[in-house]
Amino acid sequence: MPACNIRMQIFKKDKVNPMKVTEFFKNKTVFSFEVFPPKKTSPVESIYETLEAIEELHPDFVSITLGAGGSGNGENTIAVAKRLKEKHGITPMAHLPCIHHTKEQIDSILHEFTENGIENILALRGDLVPDLVPSTDFEHASDLIEYIRSKGDFDIAAACYPEGHLEAPNLDTDIEFLKRKQEAGATHLISQLFFDNEAFYNFRWRAERAGVNIPIEAGIMPVTNRKQIERMVSMCGASLPRKFTRIIQKYEHNPDALRDAGIAYAIDQIVDLLAEGVDGIHLYTMNNPYVARRITEAVSGIIKTGDKC
Ligand code: FAD
Repeated sequence: MPACNIRMQIFKKDKVNPMKVTEFFKNKTVFSFEVFPPKKTSPVESIYETLEAIEELHPDFVSITLGAGGSGNGENTIAVAKRLKEKHGITPMAHLPCIHHTKEQIDSILHEFTENGIENILALRGDLVPDLVPSTDFEHASDLIEYIRSKGDFDIAAACYPEGHLEAPNLDTDIEFLKRKQEAGATHLISQLFFDNEAFYNFRWRAERAGVNIPIEAGIMPVTNRKQIERMVSMCGASLPRKFTRIIQKYEHNPDALRDAGIAYAIDQIVDLLAEGVDGIHLYTMNNPYVARRITEAVSGIIKTGDKC
């Protein structure tokens, strides 16, 4: 596909042919979303309205999460991916955690992916679930990446951590393991959320120095309520710059103001990242198309003009 046709995907209403995500990075600054599927106990239809709204924003691709433990075979993840591709013409990327799966279970999920036309996978270890015994087949994401690579023609992405993974002794060690994911066959990276762009730039520089040369998308989470921040920060340990905590303290009891300030903060982060030549922005939408729309509208002109095309 010619480079400039790819560029039009964010901003034109035309349906596009879903494709391998790595191809997008060759020609443009990528703009993508993350959504989570309905719980196993909820009907998949409960997300349809959100997907309709997302289609209007024309992301390059949408990734769909899959819980590491107890979420079975990712039925709803697959159903959402299939719908994105077939009904909305959006390239889907299915998350696939491995720490609580055997090889046979992974084989069965990969078979389902193939049957449903899912070509892009975010290969993850997954968070350890306390009551579940970890798999002996896949200890780390790099094991899964190597396995998927041996199984078929999938496009494989992996996770990275600008401030280091919580279990890693330090950032450089974490980056050494990140390089193993690249060597195992990952062709692009999506970062954990962060609120301090300097942390991302420091990480990107160190990763490059260590030989990580695949595109790195910056994961941006617009924070719109206080509970969400507390949960996220305890889960991933992102540091909170003074500018950010001032906003939270000032507006925590005014939900509309906090939402608007959180959106403005995310836009500010994205504008700075684009100016620094980031490979892509991955927006953690939290299934909130209103917030995704406000951010997309605010940055679409900059992504257009800053395009590599
Ligand atoms: P790994 O790459 O295996 O790393 C885990 C830890 O092990 C790190 O500390 C690393 O330094 C270390 N390590 C790596 N390789 C080795 C090695 N060979 N030897 C020794 N140590 C090693 N979780 C879900 O359950 N479902 C999701 O849908 C999901 N989506 C995510 C999306 C993104 C963009 C991100 C950033 C995270 C997501 N997670 C998801 C969370 C993720 O599963 C956790 O952060 C998990 O704890 C680590 O996953 P990983 O793939 O980075 O693991």
